[in-house]
Amino acid sequence: MHEYQHVIEGRSVAPAAGRYMDSVNPFTGEPWCRIPLGDGTDVDRAVDAAKRAFDDSDWSRLTASARGRILMTLADLIEANADRLAAIETRDNGKLIAEMSAQLRYIPSWYRYFGGLADKIEGGVLPIDKPDMAAFRTYEPLGVIAAITPWNSPLLLAAYKIAPALAAGNTVVLKPSEHTSASSIEFALLALEAGVPPGVLNVVTGLGSEVGRRLVEHPDVAKVSFTGGTETGRAIYTAAAGGMKKVALELGGKSPNIVFEDAEPDAAVRGAISGIFAATGQTCIAGSRLLVQRSIHDDFVRRLVDFARTARIGDPSDRETQVGPVTTKDQYEKILSYIQIAKDEGATTVLGGGPAERGGWFVEPTIFTDVDNGMRIAREEVFGPVLSVIPFDTEEDAVRIANDTRFGLAAGVWTQDMKRAFRMTRRLRAGTVWVNTYRAVSYMAPFGGYKDSGIGRENGQQTILEYLQPKSVWFNLSDDVPNPFVIR
Ligand code: NAD
Repeated sequence: MHEYQHVIEGRSVAPAAGRYMDSVNPFTGEPWCRIPLGDGTDVDRAVDAAKRAFDDSDWSRLTASARGRILMTLADLIEANADRLAAIETRDNGKLIAEMSAQLRYIPSWYRYFGGLADKIEGGVLPIDKPDMAAFRTYEPLGVIAAITPWNSPLLLAAYKIAPALAAGNTVVLKPSEHTSASSIEFALLALEAGVPPGVLNVVTGLGSEVGRRLVEHPDVAKVSFTGGTETGRAIYTAAAGGMKKVALELGGKSPNIVFEDAEPDAAVRGAISGIFAATGQTCIAGSRLLVQRSIHDDFVRRLVDFARTARIGDPSDRETQVGPVTTKDQYEKILSYIQIAKDEGATTVLGGGPAERGGWFVEPTIFTDVDNGMRIAREEVFGPVLSVIPFDTEEDAVRIANDTRFGLAAGVWTQDMKRAFRMTRRLRAGTVWVNTYRAVSYMAPFGGYKDSGIGRENGQQTILEYLQPKSVWFNLSDDVPNPFVIR
């Protein structure tokens, strides 16, 4: 079995304590490689390397154009290695090869976009209100960025962070999920090949409670950029506050996907399916609450169940498969426990409702009706292929139910009435609203959550400013001696 190593200061480095852990293929339930089970010593080494690279190497002093060109080369290398990296991710997280290949083919766009943006960050001369002074604003990188990522889309979610962070001239320590670390290690080696200098991008693997926690608490980390569960995000926010660190938190969701009676039915059925069964429901943007107007409820549910029943469940490395396993045994058990909770709460199972017997960790695509928005199945993130259908009567009703959640990551609206669609986009309290589509993301479109779904935005031009800080520079142009006791 292949044994991976940390990537620190441009080299493959064995864990200080010599410990490793298995990475398990969720389709077979068998280990397929080993990754370092790192500890605080490894984190300290990686942060020291990143700090040295920031302070002493040419990275942050390199011209922005030169940094941009390196990121473009990295994009080319990811493209050239897309199939290999996608196969690793499918083996690690059990998501469909079709999905991981599409992600890997798209990821280079992040490095090209932010590489291209690197030399377009302009400061400015300030029209300062003091005739004997001149002042300008410039932007400087923050320092060492800790990037902490989950298991569902390892390299895509890392790109959301690493592309703008490096383009801005920061250095990075990446801690991927302990369930899916292999592709991040491979990626760091490609970055070296692309010309990213040693120490600028480091990868340390291990448990969140040990490696993740030490990274967040490390005094030399300037910012923590985290994607993962809401409760982990809360703990990271608290820990980061002690060190006065900046944070970006991309957290969980319980997103409403809202179908009005005038929606084009086939498109809306496909949208509802893609919202919850794509990626076996393991996406933060899952449309896990399907709000359906009462007048079409029964017919729509019938169509939905008929379509969902045809989903091909099986080996995620087979391009024909539509629903794969869930990533970890813990997640599998958590999903089954939520299915039981929904049944106990009085929801009606109209599809699935149990494990799918295929070896590995498979859960049947499951649909519940008779769900009230107050039930736990409608309030808590399941992170699996479990859909709650909730009826509504009026537009007002739909808005009230949709916004009645502690989350606010995304929402979908299905209607052919564009005035209504526009009104809905204004009233839904979510960072992304899709009209007559679902799950679209781009490096150009800001992504992030309202409320418990997070803090800050990723993607889009503005994001690069979240990895920079403005500095004001003043010049005194007069020879007068000012009164030192009065502000000028
Ligand atoms: P998780 O919160 O368990 O773990 C995420 C990462 O944080 C892992 O690398 C983990 O090792 C690390 N970690 C855990 N405890 C830590 C701690 N105390 N300090 C520092 N790091 C720690 O999440 P997960 O189970 O890997 O992923 C699923 C969750 O991620 C879901 O809730 C999902 O909604 C969310 N998610 C959000 C987005 C988004 O962009 N909003 C995208 C994907 C997933």
